[in-house]
Amino acid sequence: TPPVLAVDALSVSFPVKRGLFRRPDRLRAVDDVSFELAPGEVLGLVGESGSGKSTTGRALMRLVEPDAGSVRLREVELTELSGEQMRRHRRHIQMVFQDPYSSLDPSMVIAESVGEPLEVHEGLRGRQRDERVRELLVRVGLSARHLERYPYEFSGGQRQRLAIARALAVDPAVVVCDEAVSALDVSTQNQIINLLERLRGELGTSYLFISHDLSVVRRLAQRVAVMYLGRLVEDGPSERLYSRPAHPYTEALLSAVPVPDPVAQRRRERIVLPGDPPDPTDPPRGCPFHPRCPYAMDVCREETPAPTPVDGGGRVRCHLHTAGPVLAGGSVLELR
Ligand code: SF4
Ligand code: MG
Repeated sequence: TPPVLAVDALSVSFPVKRGLFRRPDRLRAVDDVSFELAPGEVLGLVGESGSGKSTTGRALMRLVEPDAGSVRLREVELTELSGEQMRRHRRHIQMVFQDPYSSLDPSMVIAESVGEPLEVHEGLRGRQRDERVRELLVRVGLSARHLERYPYEFSGGQRQRLAIARALAVDPAVVVCDEAVSALDVSTQNQIINLLERLRGELGTSYLFISHDLSVVRRLAQRVAVMYLGRLVEDGPSERLYSRPAHPYTEALLSAVPVPDPVAQRRRERIVLPGDPPDPTDPPRGCPFHPRCPYAMDVCREETPAPTPVDGGGRVRCHLHTAGPVLAGGSVLELR
């Protein structure tokens, strides 16, 4: 089956002023990112804050404008739509944020805020709209009697259910979840994850699940993509990526994730990366991870690694996995 979403060489940059006497510069928030999403699939997008995950999600929906690249949703090239066409097309790609108030207006009752996409995209009003909102509330595990209540009358977990109901109201093909469970306590997180999983089964929706929390991503995602400094450094099936990470950055991220098995936990050393992520307005030459990488070699400071297929699925951008780039002295790198 063809992918429901195909992102190719997506790049986004923002103007920044770096210092008093320096020329204005551009921050490459998303740099040459490509991935696909199959129907009904969950792709986890992980990385530290500032890695470009959220900007990627927002660029898909044209909430920020990409500089370059292609975003195809089914047969439609989203980057070529006019503003008005894109607004209409947003029914097919919806977003759920960390803060439910980003999509629920605190001054609107539930019938209005959850029902708004039904009015905008399907022209439903009054009783027809309310009937659909009642169905949606039940679908996300809430009572159908909440129509006239305000968001503040609900708990954090319930508000996230409402935000999900609103996102699903017009039956989108893709939902971008940006840290959608990150602000919730663990048991509420579990409930929302179970809800998202159930809805995926019932509706066949695909999710791009953006999170800094790899243990949460593991519970939902069939595939995972890892971002560092705006670049996609590794992707692959969850099973392979969690058990055999190919990129040293993925390895370090995973070493910080608690493992349920205490024996496995003892065997796994936590890798502490030196330093903070580098200044994104002035990314390092070569591999962007080299200043923090425990395996950095000479070639890493000079050449940007190209995506290389990984055994067990996916791709990695790391010289440990390329077919032996030739160093200045003529020696060939050893493969791990
Ligand atoms: Fe580390 Fe080099 Fe691989 Fe970059 S290319 S992750 S610096 S080993
Ligand atoms: Mg973010």
